[in-house]
Amino acid sequence: MVLPRLPSIRELIKLYGLSAKSQLSQNFILDKNITDKIVRCASLSANVPLVVEVGPGPGLLTRSILDAGVKNMVAVEKDDRFQPTLRQLGEASESRLKVIQGNMLEISHQSILDKAQIDAATSPLHIMGNLPFNVATPLLLQWLHLLAGRQGLFGVSPHGAVMTLMFQKEVGDRLAAKASTGHRGRLAIMAQSLCDVEEVYRVPASVFVPKPKVDASVIQLVPKANPFSDHQDAYLTLENVLRYYFTKRRKTVGHITRRLAKEMPQSKQVLEELEDTLDFKARPEDLTTDQFGEIARRLHENGTIELPL
Ligand code: SAM
Repeated sequence: MVLPRLPSIRELIKLYGLSAKSQLSQNFILDKNITDKIVRCASLSANVPLVVEVGPGPGLLTRSILDAGVKNMVAVEKDDRFQPTLRQLGEASESRLKVIQGNMLEISHQSILDKAQIDAATSPLHIMGNLPFNVATPLLLQWLHLLAGRQGLFGVSPHGAVMTLMFQKEVGDRLAAKASTGHRGRLAIMAQSLCDVEEVYRVPASVFVPKPKVDASVIQLVPKANPFSDHQDAYLTLENVLRYYFTKRRKTVGHITRRLAKEMPQSKQVLEELEDTLDFKARPEDLTTDQFGEIARRLHENGTIELPL
């Protein structure tokens, strides 16, 4: 299959006014070697039941995904100026690529699944994207909720969906941060409670057009087998636990836990028992993801979802 010629960088800049749009964080990758490398790092199998690409823009990463032999792909792009190029690519792909114009933060996942004509799969779906940095984190947070409850794109396969996503390097560092390291915070624990998280590719700012101020990293999130026994509520409890502990991150775990016990007398006993398993002298960033998962699990089993602010 021969995909149509991609417009040159000069043509694209003229067509889309790229420099004018830099404030909208439209930083494009126009070097196919780089997009091919991203796809290689994603370890996409040709047998993946569906790849959803978010924010394909002019479609170079899209081409690399198709070149990897993917048979079923949906690209969701908000900006209507890219529709002609993407639709042309869709036609040349012999229906392997379908294009939806829409905002990924608002679109119903069912409409994507309908377009892809898929309702169940044994192996995980794959979500990929080089998104504007201000959209990538809210989207990931939304997806983690859906993953916890195995809903939407994450409910098609019992294994959920693997995500291979580009983030600003600093956000990538925060996502992949291990306990007791500089970038450790709520984001790392939320993501790592549900997924194995790994930086698979560091991308220098120089490969983007226009060039952003900072480097980027491609982060892969592979869902864990049995997060919270598939309980979305337990994940909500975890989020609330993290908010409580990390707004007091300068205090010790013991101080925070005792304060919480005072504020929630109904969970006093559960919280006091934590002293047997947690280092009460540690700070929140020193606890492992499993340890926070254990706090959330115990509180959730005791009927707690909401926590005091
Ligand atoms: N994937 C292309 C690349 O690597 O060159 C484009 C990357 S550019 C950083 C981000 C793309 O996401 C833009 O094409 C933008 O229009 C699109 N986009 C922004 N917000 C979106 C949203 N909420 N839903 C879908 N697409 C979005």
